[in-house]
Amino acid sequence: MQFQGRFFDGKHSSSKSCTLNYDKESGFSILYDEHTLILQKVLWKQTSTKLLIIGESLGKYGHIAITDPADQQHILHLLSNIKKAKSIWYSHAFLAYYGIISILIALWIFMDSLVFLFPTRIEPWLEKQARSIHFRQSEVIATDFSDPTLKKIKDAFIAIDPELEGIELEVVKESSINAVTLPNKKVIIFSKLIESADSIEELMGVLAHEMSHVKFRHCIAAYVKLSLVNMVDKIILGGAVSGTGMAMYFLQFSKTNEEQADEGAIKYLDQLHLSTSGISNFFKKMATTKKSSYFSFNFLATHPSSHDREYLFQGHQKRYAKSDFGKHDLKKIKAVVQKHNFKSKKPLKRKPIKGATL
Ligand SMILES: [Zn+2]
Repeated sequence: MQFQGRFFDGKHSSSKSCTLNYDKESGFSILYDEHTLILQKVLWKQTSTKLLIIGESLGKYGHIAITDPADQQHILHLLSNIKKAKSIWYSHAFLAYYGIISILIALWIFMDSLVFLFPTRIEPWLEKQARSIHFRQSEVIATDFSDPTLKKIKDAFIAIDPELEGIELEVVKESSINAVTLPNKKVIIFSKLIESADSIEELMGVLAHEMSHVKFRHCIAAYVKLSLVNMVDKIILGGAVSGTGMAMYFLQFSKTNEEQADEGAIKYLDQLHLSTSGISNFFKKMATTKKSSYFSFNFLATHPSSHDREYLFQGHQKRYAKSDFGKHDLKKIKAVVQKHNFKSKKPLKRKPIKGATL
């Protein structure tokens, strides 16, 4: 569409004859003295006789004057349609933006019950991500492939629950008292947990809790949640939270997950003929060990308190005549860690691992 008008460049008092062009693709432009100028951010002003078109590319005082009343009506109609189309686009973009964020938040809230939607084939990839976050610098002391005691523990759990088939145990050198599960059925035992364990029941109690996390795929929900937090952070805050590492604080199992894992641990220990006195003692120690990384995370979040867990396991204490596990197993696994400490010349200087708790 073309309209005839006068172009005032805002520098000279005289005006030039110009043609105002409009097409859907490139919007408004003017042609004067064989020059073409695309108009950006077009505004207009109606006087009693003229329609004045103002645009960013015309400078502060430049404008185009349209005098023909029919052309004025036509241009006003075009401008009003453009405005309407823009406002519809903005409202759609607004809805899409908040729609996506609401879906991500809803997914985050209901993730624990949606974990079955994630196929097991994503787990090796999630494990890789998790290792790169937490265990990039960790030194592996033993695995169930290399150590017979770890193999015995693994086999015992699989024997009582075939759903645990495929689990792998690993001892890593870490200065905090903890054990964690990673996607892909990996259970990581921190060396300090073994060093500080007072009984085999204590170590097996903690592992029974971790095995329940594996069984219910709790860490899949946790890592998917972490990805969602990172996504929302990138959309809303441009990655400000992820940049500070704060998003890691969301990598917590929910209170319901922890309670489910504790209940599962009680059942496993019962099947293994091991008393819950060990894990009860473990939580008693945790409640008084203020320096552990576990404690600092617990403060922020969703875990049941150590005292509550100590009393839960105390309440389920039973005595068993015989178990396949005894003092000698703890002695053996402690010896593996001690031997490694003796050989290893590298002291642990880095901060405790963040974001993953028992
Ligand atoms: Zn847990």
